[in-house]
Amino acid sequence: MYVVIKRDGRQVQFDASKIEIAILKAMRYGSGIVNEELAKKIAENFSTDKMIVTIKEIEDYVYAALIESGDMLTAKCYEAYRAVREYQRQRNTIDNKVIGLINGENKESLMENSNKQENLISTQRDLVAEEVSKDVAKRMMLPPHIAQAHDNGLIHIHDLGHYLNPSFNCCLINLKDMLENGTVINGKMIERPKTFRTACTIATQIIAQVASGQFGGQTMSLAHLSPFVRISEEKIRRDLVIEWNENGFMYNEEQLEKIVQRRLKEEVKAGIQTIQYQINTLQTSNGQSPFLSVFMYISEYPEYEKETVMLIEEVLHQRIQGIKNEVGAWITPAFPKLLYVTDENNIREDSKYYSLTQLAAVCVSKRMMPDFISAKHMRANYEGNVFGCMGCRAWLSPYKGPINNEEGTYKWYGRFNMGLTSLNLADVGLSAQGDMDKFWKILEDRLELCRESLMLRYEKLKNVTSDVSPIHWQHGAIARLAPHEPIYPLLQNGYATITLGYIGLYECVMALIGKSHTTPEGEKLGVEIMKNLKAHIVKWKEETGLGFALYGTPSESLTERFAKCLQRRFGVIKGITDRNYLTNSYHVFVGEEIDAFEKLKFESQFHPISSGGAISYVELPNLAQNPEVILTLIKYMYENVQYAEMNTKLDFCMECGYEGEILCDDNLEWYCPNCGNRDKSRMNVVRRTCGYLGENYWNEGRTQEIKERVMHL
Ligand SMILES: [Zn+2]
Repeated sequence: MYVVIKRDGRQVQFDASKIEIAILKAMRYGSGIVNEELAKKIAENFSTDKMIVTIKEIEDYVYAALIESGDMLTAKCYEAYRAVREYQRQRNTIDNKVIGLINGENKESLMENSNKQENLISTQRDLVAEEVSKDVAKRMMLPPHIAQAHDNGLIHIHDLGHYLNPSFNCCLINLKDMLENGTVINGKMIERPKTFRTACTIATQIIAQVASGQFGGQTMSLAHLSPFVRISEEKIRRDLVIEWNENGFMYNEEQLEKIVQRRLKEEVKAGIQTIQYQINTLQTSNGQSPFLSVFMYISEYPEYEKETVMLIEEVLHQRIQGIKNEVGAWITPAFPKLLYVTDENNIREDSKYYSLTQLAAVCVSKRMMPDFISAKHMRANYEGNVFGCMGCRAWLSPYKGPINNEEGTYKWYGRFNMGLTSLNLADVGLSAQGDMDKFWKILEDRLELCRESLMLRYEKLKNVTSDVSPIHWQHGAIARLAPHEPIYPLLQNGYATITLGYIGLYECVMALIGKSHTTPEGEKLGVEIMKNLKAHIVKWKEETGLGFALYGTPSESLTERFAKCLQRRFGVIKGITDRNYLTNSYHVFVGEEIDAFEKLKFESQFHPISSGGAISYVELPNLAQNPEVILTLIKYMYENVQYAEMNTKLDFCMECGYEGEILCDDNLEWYCPNCGNRDKSRMNVVRRTCGYLGENYWNEGRTQEIKERVMHL
């Protein structure tokens, strides 16, 4: 008897009946004529001089024997079956990752974004596409040393999941232009809306389209909607007068005005509701709600100040109320993120719009929003300008050149960020092994890797034409280019930014001198490192003419990836790699005891350095009953820090109806302190994860970080 070597190397005894079965199957689907006798004969006639045979030798024999028997169709079928089996045995580099997405084992990708519900078909389909994109990018588009630096966690190229489809990162959409001058959605013309309510509906449609055609967040300005409030007001008045006159009603101006204002208020309420509900219920092609921020600045258009105030007030009222979850309880919505500007006209008790800021404080105490942009600091840091960040924290640099800018004044809307590569500062610190000269040398090399990867990003975008996303490039969100027109000019001369991100300044300083960057010695070094990063940005900008910027990376899930890479490279080092997360950007370590005021003051020095992206936060207890404390903080923020936010905790348990902080135990499991419920699908837990709020839970590293946050008050 023969010994057969199988494809996987195993050896088994020869068994003629298996050949027979295979031939019978081929006959059935080949010629359709099943000749059992012939099958048996071919199987039993197999012979060779060797004692050990391979599967392939047997297959070649069977194929030849079938040809010889004259049954061509069966022979072909038999051979094709081998080819199919061959094909099925092929393995791609990401098979396990893709299958892991479906069976829930690829936790890394599934938990990457807490705004995605990972078990939905739409989410999984998008995640599969991202895996494929990452794989192709790493194997075929990145030079090996860049791919390796990314894999080892020295750097992180943020948009690898979108690398095949050249989109940019985040932007300030030019909603004003799109509403005033019309736009096109899905090939349908959308004209200038005739009422506020329609303007709101169109705005949400624009936002959904824009979100599907880019990688990161978008910001719209509420003031862009304010002219339509006035249009509605005039329309309501006109219609009433016609109606009342037609019916011969007697009325005076005062009565008319009262009704007009009441109806206008109703319309504003309905319009804002449309935006809030649409944004929270829409799902873009990425399987998530659009990452939208809403800029709320009273003085943006002085001629529409009254209307803008009306809109801000309504947005805050609706946010305080919240949004109903599946059991009908009012909870904190994650989107849109609200950006409230504090300024001289709303920050002091005797300021004209102080009551609006009081309302904002109540809103924070219940819904963790809005975030606060200090007009005072913005003007100081950005040539006298006040504008919103793109998405959750990316700031543009001032630009008033001729690109896409006929007026020649400072231009903000219609600008964007090309992309982002983050540097793992903790790794640089540990690699230097306490040697400062070595540190600066390694930092130099790592920064070169970042620059190289960012230039690759730029090179890819350079060849893109306006056709890849008409809403962005042809119909006003960014520009009004012609079909097929290259977007190339919009990438130049600082019109768009391209950013160097960084994570773990705290761990970096710890690795170098064994002290936190909040100590005097640590602070000096921390600032020096940050200034070094900034100097590189400035140099790159000069050399390339591109809008390089420095950005404190949000790193929602990257925090864990980098931490694990560090553990692999350096082992567990107390106080640096013994947690599954790194400290974001320049932030104070989450476990460090520091009060809110001190923290904001300390971190504020990094905002002007990290001017392409920075946000500071303070961690507060449940202050739903105490908005006065929040008001004190808002005032402090106005004076001391460019952009900051407050984290409060108001969760909801669907089992018992408990409203308050849902807790996290030592195994990083969430539970209701009131009834002990541990079913995550039966509670709403909302936490700030990266500037955006997250509501679908987080990876282990980020959960640990959330658990270890100390209160700053
Ligand atoms: Zn409960």
